[in-house]
This record gives sequence, C-alpha cells and structure tokens, in this order.
Amino acid sequence: MTQDLESQTAAVQTALEAVTNRLAEEKTYLTDLDSAIGDADHGANMNRGFQAALEKAEESDAEEPAELVKTIGVALVSAVGGASGPLYGGSIMSASQTLEGGISAETSVAFAEAYLETVESRGKASLGDKTMVDALTPAVHTYKKSIEVDELAPLEALGKAVDAARRGVEFTTPLRAKKGRASYLGWRSVGHQDPGATSTLFILEELLAVATEALNGEVEVDAESDVHPEDIDVESLETEADIEPEDLKTGETDGGTESEGGGEH
Ligand SMILES: [Mg+2]
Repeated sequence: MTQDLESQTAAVQTALEAVTNRLAEEKTYLTDLDSAIGDADHGANMNRGFQAALEKAEESDAEEPAELVKTIGVALVSAVGGASGPLYGGSIMSASQTLEGGISAETSVAFAEAYLETVESRGKASLGDKTMVDALTPAVHTYKKSIEVDELAPLEALGKAVDAARRGVEFTTPLRAKKGRASYLGWRSVGHQDPGATSTLFILEELLAVATEALNGEVEVDAESDVHPEDIDVESLETEADIEPEDLKTGETDGGTESEGGGEH
C-alpha cells in the first residue's frame, strides 16, 4: 500500500511535469485567446503558476498523492495571478482531500466532482457562462457516468472525458460571456473561444497522455512475450501469405502469378 502511494505520488509528479510543459508551449496561444475577450494574461498566468507548482513539487517530500496535489494547489494560488489563481489553485487544494488514502476510480471521481463544485462556487459560474466550467462540466459528468454507470476502466473514462471537454471548449465560442472580464464585452464576446475552458482542456489532455503512457508501460512490463511490432520479420509474413486457404483449395499455389490472379476474380 505504501509503495502504491509512492508510485501514485510519482505519477502525480509526472502529470504535473507534462501539464507544465504543455502550458509553457501554449502560453502564446492562451494569451492570444485572452487578448480577444480578456486582459491577455491567461497564458502567462498559467505558465507562471505551473512553473512555480513544479518547483514546489520538486522540493516537496510528499509521500502521498493527496499531499502532493495539495502542494500544487497552494503554489497555484500564490503564483497564478488574476481570478485564475484561487479558481484553479484553491479548487485543487480543496479537492485534494478526496484523494486521501490514494487514487482509485472512486476517489478520482470524487476529486473531479469536488473540483468542479469548488470552481463553480468560487467563480459563481454555471454551464453556459463562457468559462472553464463549460469544459469542466461535460468532462466531469462524462467521467463519473463512464465509471459509475458504464463501468468503464478509468483510462477509457478519462478518454471520453477529454473528448467531452473538447466539445465543451467548442461550445464556448458562440456564447456571450456572463462572467469575468469577458462579460464586459457583452455581445462582442460572441465568436471567441474561452481561454479558461481551453487551458482546462490542455490539462485534461496531458493527464490522459500521462495515464495512457503509464498503462502502456505496465502492459509492456507485464507482458510475457517480448515481441514488439518492429521485431517482426515482415518478409517471413509475406512468405506465409503466399499460401492462402483459397490457393490450397484450387491447387493454384504458383506464387508468381498470385497478384494478377487476384485481379481476374
Ligand atoms: Mg485574463
């Protein structure tokens, strides 16, 4: 169990690194989105916040995922400027309690729900207000339903959640903003994709990428066979393919004319 918690803590660290890298790459794009309907700081804020969170996490001696997730939240609150700090960071801090005892299908659903609820209550935002809630709500609802109703594996559920978030981001474009700075633009906010919903999608995409890679790694380690696709001798497969069941039936096993023969039928 302790080892389990340690490896889960390491997985959280890996996910944080992936998210931090992604937000650094998307810094200009997020700022461009925010410059259309906000104050052009979302990319810089998120980048600064996650760089700070990564530093704190590297210094941290957290041995449990809940502890490390809380550390990330605390760092985000102090390092992300604007309204996003308390929204992203404070909500992560508060939701981190649900992970006490470890990350499982059940606690990950609890975390997702707690995070969404806190973002909604702190931001006083609801679905359709053209905020990060528009990406988060479909993602969290899809994740919970996939786990609890459809009984999918967490990785598959996360894949569906990311897809739902992507559609949520697209959904923000034709909406008129009702919260935050974008709401001051009124109808002029229509036609622009919401930056907060977009960064939420990027974070979820990275969580999925890290989880997928971790699972593939496990599959390779657990697999009894060490045959990889690149090790397979393609020529030997082609030789075997010369003897098709149809060829045996008709007695036409002359490999030299097989391709032309196929065209005649
Ligand atoms: Mg802004």
